[in-house]
Amino acid sequence: MGIVANTERWAIRIHGTVQGVGFRPFVFRLATRLKLAGEVGNDELGVWCEAQGPAKVLAEFVRRLETDSPPLARVQSITTRPIEEVGGPGFEIAATKRGAGGLMAIPPDVSTCAACMSEVLDPADRRFGYPFTCCTDCGPRYTVVRELPYDREATSLADFAMCEYCQAEYGDPAGRRFHAQANCCADCGPALGISVVSSEFAHMASARAPLDAAIEMIFPPSPQSISSTRMSSH
Ligand SMILES: [Zn+2]
Ligand SMILES: [Zn+2]
Repeated sequence: MGIVANTERWAIRIHGTVQGVGFRPFVFRLATRLKLAGEVGNDELGVWCEAQGPAKVLAEFVRRLETDSPPLARVQSITTRPIEEVGGPGFEIAATKRGAGGLMAIPPDVSTCAACMSEVLDPADRRFGYPFTCCTDCGPRYTVVRELPYDREATSLADFAMCEYCQAEYGDPAGRRFHAQANCCADCGPALGISVVSSEFAHMASARAPLDAAIEMIFPPSPQSISSTRMSSH
């Protein structure tokens, strides 16, 4: 005796706005840092977790689930109960369990974060100018979700298979796109398009990026520049 660590396993349930906000990756990172074994997942009630380790560390883990949660998460309550220990070291993100029933909050869309914006504005970045850039800290949630739990298959991104670069980001626990369900880029994600009905605007759609064209239609340039554009196209 004395060599065997006195460990316990706790079933932990987290209620609130905890899906689509990077909560599972956060739990994964926290548990890994505290050297706890177990798993975390989404279900229709929120986020469930089983964690195994010394009771003191488990208590610290639960405390930090609340105090250190991601910026977009809103933890309403956390419940814990001891369960039987099972083997297996390491901590993992489990496949989503369905059919639990119940209600949970759909996270809102969140405007582009500073980190994503700097990528969009950086000519050297692979997401330069890509309008659907997002991460676990920002991007669409409510707009793209079709049903809960919030997983990629349950969003309008389901039909867009991630390219190898996006997939690598999605699988990297150290990055801010770890398990970012709406992760995509210009190579693998949705594209902006514009359909021009009026021939008056036809030159814009062909000559400019769709977003520029839309901006020009909504905020037309001054009359002088329009007439010079028309004259030059004669
Ligand atoms: Zn972001
Ligand atoms: Zn991609």
